[in-house]
Amino acid sequence: MTRTVYINGQYMAETDAKVSIFDRGFLFADAVYEVTAVLEGKLIDNAGHIARLTRSCQELGIPMPISAEELTEIQRSLIEKNQLHEGGVYLQLTRGSEGDRDFSYSEDIKPTLVLFTQARELIHSPVAKKGIKVLSMDDIRWRRRDIKTTSLLPACMAKHIAHQAGCDDVWLIEQGYVTEGGSSNAYIVTDEGKIITRPLSNDILSGITRASLMLLAKDCGLVIEERAFTIEEAYQATEAFVSSATTFIWPVTHIDDHEIGDGKPGPIAAKLREIYIKTSLEMAE
Ligand code: PMP
Repeated sequence: MTRTVYINGQYMAETDAKVSIFDRGFLFADAVYEVTAVLEGKLIDNAGHIARLTRSCQELGIPMPISAEELTEIQRSLIEKNQLHEGGVYLQLTRGSEGDRDFSYSEDIKPTLVLFTQARELIHSPVAKKGIKVLSMDDIRWRRRDIKTTSLLPACMAKHIAHQAGCDDVWLIEQGYVTEGGSSNAYIVTDEGKIITRPLSNDILSGITRASLMLLAKDCGLVIEERAFTIEEAYQATEAFVSSATTFIWPVTHIDDHEIGDGKPGPIAAKLREIYIKTSLEMAE
């Protein structure tokens, strides 16, 4: 099926949507993005995604070309036009094009805005039941991982190496401590059932799913401690899991050559996943 996509004020067939070769998103990865999950045709946690987009834009000095309300209208229109039941809406905003390649840019450069839908099984994803195997790797990304930019080459390279090694994803390591997953936040569970995750800083992306999860976990009496943990501590954990808008919560059953717990998806990840899906559906817009 040919999707309808959105580009700079217009809806059109995906095959007709074109961006200039001089666009700074293409030449310099001078661009930010967001992915909002869709369940039953509704947007999940979208206010958080739009708020993070606004912050990413502020940090880079990219002006938001339209309001948060207008963005949400476009997201909803695309869901409707493409009859998307489950999956996500991808949104990318680049600094734009000035018709040539130049590191510097003028203040009045016009951003390029692109949105498209992606159908994907989220609730009944077989991976959610089976869990994932992750490979740990040196985190070679830049120092501002709190900004959600499209400079994703280190993540692409790391995930490719992981796939070649028969793993599903990576956990990135800096000075012995886990920063986050290749495109997710990382968690472990201790013997006492405490959930550990790295505190927010420039070292990781402030996950929107993570923020919701923190509130939900507290509501159901689970203790979350925000502190850095080493990869060795992760090997010894009772459970491990990741969170993101494209996975919600996925259990991690193996890290490198280590089985986590009994090597099967753990009960805390399963419980959080169930509560997250239930609550997000109730609050979906
Ligand atoms: N960290 C990184 C590096 C990511 O790419 C993502 C996915 N966008 C996340 C964390 C999780 O963020 P969210 O829950 O907002 O999808």
